[in-house]
Parts: sequence; structure tokens; C-alpha cells
Amino acid sequence: MKNFDFKPLLRKNIQALRPYSSARDEFSAEGSYLFFDANENALGSVGLSEAFNRYPDPYQKQVKTLIAAQQNVDVEQVFLGNGSDEAIDLLFRAFCEPKQDKALIMPPTYGMYSVSASINDVETVKVSLTENYQPDVESVIHTVKNDPSIKLIFLCSPNNPTGNLLNEENIISILENCNAIVVVDEAYIDFSPDQTILRYLNDYPNLVVLQTFSKAWGLANLRLGKAFASTGIISIFNNIKPPYNVNGYTQKAAIQALNAVEQKDNFIKKIIEERENLILELEKLSIVKQVYPSDANFLLVKMTRNATDIYNQLIKDQVVLRNRSTVHLCENCLRITIGTKTENAFLIKQLLRLL
Ligand code: PMP
Repeated sequence: MKNFDFKPLLRKNIQALRPYSSARDEFSAEGSYLFFDANENALGSVGLSEAFNRYPDPYQKQVKTLIAAQQNVDVEQVFLGNGSDEAIDLLFRAFCEPKQDKALIMPPTYGMYSVSASINDVETVKVSLTENYQPDVESVIHTVKNDPSIKLIFLCSPNNPTGNLLNEENIISILENCNAIVVVDEAYIDFSPDQTILRYLNDYPNLVVLQTFSKAWGLANLRLGKAFASTGIISIFNNIKPPYNVNGYTQKAAIQALNAVEQKDNFIKKIIEERENLILELEKLSIVKQVYPSDANFLLVKMTRNATDIYNQLIKDQVVLRNRSTVHLCENCLRITIGTKTENAFLIKQLLRLL
């Protein structure tokens, strides 16, 4: 196990924080109690037949119990948030002193790391991925060793927008050699052949793994993201999150989803099949220069003609892609999420019309 203590890395105000204690923190139990403690509306919910008048479980214990069992971790190693975007924000609020501490990101990568950093008035240090979209490990380690104000390192595997997994040895090497919190964002891990990095959670106390219900589980609208880390780091997240950050409807839906794992696995299988079909179809088109290999539910595609023109033309046909053509190392690229068989066929038809 790596020798690492997260506490000295915490912001001073978080080290000193006395967390809020909600009504449901102070008393929660199953059974027929009369609740006079949380200033809720005892009469019901306006306009709805289902009752939403009581605050939800602030720590989502039932959902976490199912997740912990499926992922083979302790319940106390799981945090749930309003999307994994909430966990990204909490990492900055816990570890980065505004105007003083920094986060290291590896472009091209998910845009919220730097936006969340800016919102928290935290500088980002950028170490570009290599040409084949892998971390420049030596440069990352060198940069972190020379700048103790770097508290967070963000890795995204499979990476958005490039779609590829990061080599596990690279991630381990960064975990081993950096005295900072290493965040591995696995939003798209379910679509990849590799295992999650979660099995190293007990070896690396500086590891935080992010996952989400928004992709493979198909629950993007309900906003539910997961963070896995040491029990110490998770209890800090619990202390600084808003008291009832995951609503009761979402918790109920997540429990149903977690009890229907076969359907998720079936979705994944179908999406991967469609991904492989779409690659073959795209590679036939003369406007496509390169389809990058993908371990995710989207493809990064380099065009031979101006990508922005193609993007705009498709919008007129009511087909919306993600224009990544101005992103570092993604010049003239579009990002395409895998749709249904019919949707993908329509996209190819519209692209053929542009030839
Ligand atoms: N991480 C990555 C890499 C993403 O692409 C996204 C969403 N596109 C997120 C995190 C955020 O996901 P959510 O907040 O829906 O859990």
C-alpha cells in the first residue's frame, strides 16, 4: 500500500470545518414515526399523486449498499452526487485553495475539469497527451514533483473526446510517483474491454475513481454520479456536499436499475455492436480521413473536408454531432455518439448526401 495521507492536502477551511447536521442526520429510522423535525409539508405534494414531501436519505444508503456489493468495495468508500460533475466540483472545494493550489489536466480531455477549476478560482497546469492520446508520464511526474501546489491530477479513461483507454501501467506509475490526489474518471469504462481501476483502491490512498449512471445505465436525466475513494476522503465529501444532494426519485430509480444489471449489459453489448458497424460505414466515406479506435460509446472522426461545414450542414438535416475541430490534437474532428441502428443508418445517409 502506498504511503500517503490526504489530510495535509486538504484546504485549511475544510480541515477546520464543522459540518452541517441535517434533521435526517440527527434522526433516521425505518418505521411509523411522526416527523416534526424537518419543516416539511405534512399534507403532501402539490399537483402530484406520488408523495415527494419528505426529504430523501442524505447518504443514499440503500443505493450505496447495492453499488458496494456489485463493485466489491466498502459502502464507506462510495460517494453519490448530482452527476459525477458534482464530485469533480467537490474535489476542488476539498483540496484546492483558490488562487494558490493547482490541478493538472491532460488535454485533449473532458472540458469540465478546467471549467470547474476556473469556477473555484484554481489554475490548471496542462501536460498534453501524446500523439496517440496516452499520458506523457515522465512529464506529468516531473511537473508534479516540481510544483507542490498541484493537488489534483485528472485522468480520463476511456478519454473524452478521443475515446481510448489510458494504459493501466501509465495510471499506476502516476499514482505511485505523485504526492497528489489522482482522479481517474471512468464515465465510459462500461464500454471498454478493460477492467475498472477500482481494484487498486485499497493499494493507493491517493486514488479517486469517478463513474456515472449517465452512460451505460441510461439515466443521464436523473443525475447520479459515483466517486470511490478511501473512507477518509469519502467522509470529507459527505461533510461538504449539500445535505440532500441526490433526490429520492433518483435513489428509487437507481435501486431498480441496479437490480436489472442484465439489461445494462445488454445495452452495452448492443451499443458496442453498433459502434463497430458505424466504424465500418464511416470508413467507407471519402469525407472521413480517420476513425479513431474507441473504447467508449462515441467515435472521434477526422474529416477530409472542413469539419465545421459538415457539422453545420448536418444541423440543417436535424442531425447534431459534437464539433471538436478546434480542440488540441483533434483538429478537424467531429465526435459522434453511437445511436440506435436506425439513427446511425440515417446519419450515414445524410453524410453520403454531402459527398
Ligand atoms: N466525465 C466525463 C468524461 C464525461 O464525459 C461526463 C459527461 N459527458 C461526465 C464526467 C459527467 O457525467 P455526469 O455528470 O452526467 O455523471
